[in-house]
Amino acid sequence: MSQVPATGRENGEWGRAEMEFQDRNIRCVDCGEEFVWTAGEQVFFHDKGLQNEPKRCKPCKQAKNERLAAIAAAQAAGQRQRIEVSVNCAQCGQQTTVPFYPSQGRPVFCRSCFLASRAAADGYEG
Ligand SMILES: [Zn+2]
Ligand SMILES: [Zn+2]
Repeated sequence: MSQVPATGRENGEWGRAEMEFQDRNIRCVDCGEEFVWTAGEQVFFHDKGLQNEPKRCKPCKQAKNERLAAIAAAQAAGQRQRIEVSVNCAQCGQQTTVPFYPSQGRPVFCRSCFLASRAAADGYEG
């Protein structure tokens, strides 16, 4: 049993000070465009106690929600939906589709580059 002492309580009081919210520009992780996170939305976030700032602009967020909703609906209907996401291969730069949602910052390869890199790894014979 270990009680973690609540340190920094005093500093925490800062959070209760009246905060002034200002419109902020955030770069969308999906399309790379800057979008405005309005003061009103920040107040909403603050009221909800949300910690994470929005990462996507509205169209991208909506598109993502629709994709997720479509997948959820398909799964609920007992279908196996074939996912196809358009990406640019990190190796050769060609546009390709992958059957999964790539995570941010991870390189995605087209099929031939993927197989080539795997073959290179497998073919390692010292
Ligand atoms: Zn976007
Ligand atoms: Zn490639």
